[in-house]
Amino acid sequence: ADITFADGQVERTSFLVGADGLHSVLRPVLNMPAKPFFTGQVAWRAILPAFGQAAPEARVFMGPGRHLVVYPLRGGELLNIVAVEERDAWAEEGWFHADDPENLRRSFKAFCPEVQAILERVTDVYLWGLHRHPVAMEWHRGRAALLGDAAHPTLPFMAQGAVMALEDAWILAASLAALGLDDGPALYQARRRHRAERVIEAANKNARNYHHANPLVRAAGFGAMRLINSLAPTRLFQRFDWIYGFDVTREG
Ligand SMILES: Cc1cc2nc3c(=O)[nH]c(=O)nc-3n(C[C@H](O)[C@H](O)[C@H](O)COP(=O)(O)OP(=O)(O)OC[C@H]3O[C@@H](n4cnc5c(N)ncnc54)[C@H](O)[C@@H]3O)c2cc1C
Repeated sequence: ADITFADGQVERTSFLVGADGLHSVLRPVLNMPAKPFFTGQVAWRAILPAFGQAAPEARVFMGPGRHLVVYPLRGGELLNIVAVEERDAWAEEGWFHADDPENLRRSFKAFCPEVQAILERVTDVYLWGLHRHPVAMEWHRGRAALLGDAAHPTLPFMAQGAVMALEDAWILAASLAALGLDDGPALYQARRRHRAERVIEAANKNARNYHHANPLVRAAGFGAMRLINSLAPTRLFQRFDWIYGFDVTREG
């Protein structure tokens, strides 16, 4: 394939991998244009210095129409926050739209004191409109293939976007090694597309599980989660073993 760079320079490659993310230029070359739709959910993201004695683990706080995930970064030096709210107003897709931290605090003001203590320390926050994109139908043509977000952007609710990009890379390399540059790409798509669709569907469903607005459904759902968690703490996560227990390097 010939690739033309922004400065006009042309390079010829024996194989082209489109690992160019959400706004891939290769995806629409291989596929019909796909229209994303706004999910009615926005996410604030913020990073702040860690404080207090919180355990070094991810924590999820859930409430009607919103939830907040907090986890440590850099060996516990920093805290990363992703706070999701359901709303009707459309919000732009992108990682770097700054917002007023007061909007975040207002949205979560009914949450517990632990959440308030975290949010009052937020100084810079970014707002991100969550959109759903269909998984690309065609991941390859000739000696070109898509990989990662370019092929299958996902909502963040299973924390699998980067993971799937790495898994794709492993399987693409293995498929090309097994069948060569002409036949390898079809094997790659056959081995990856279905799994990507399943993971993305799980992420879509997880958003709904967190946000029950009806108080009865919420009480029943969260009550069941608490009960299972106290009786058999690992049980809640076992249903995701097929995701988090998956080791692509054992797949050949
Ligand atoms: C707030 C947030 C939290 C997330 N949390 C998680 C998580 O916990 N776990 C997880 O697995 N995933 C997570 N993700 C998703 C993850 O970041 C993405 O799925 C992942 O980065 C996709 O990797 P990629 O290589 O396909 O694309 P990208 O990381 O988007 O990389 C694409 C690269 O291509 C470059 N590029 C684009 N166009 C061109 C061009 N024309 N020419 C040259 N270069 C180009 C871009 O500059 C970029 O460097 C999160 C995402 C966000 C926004």
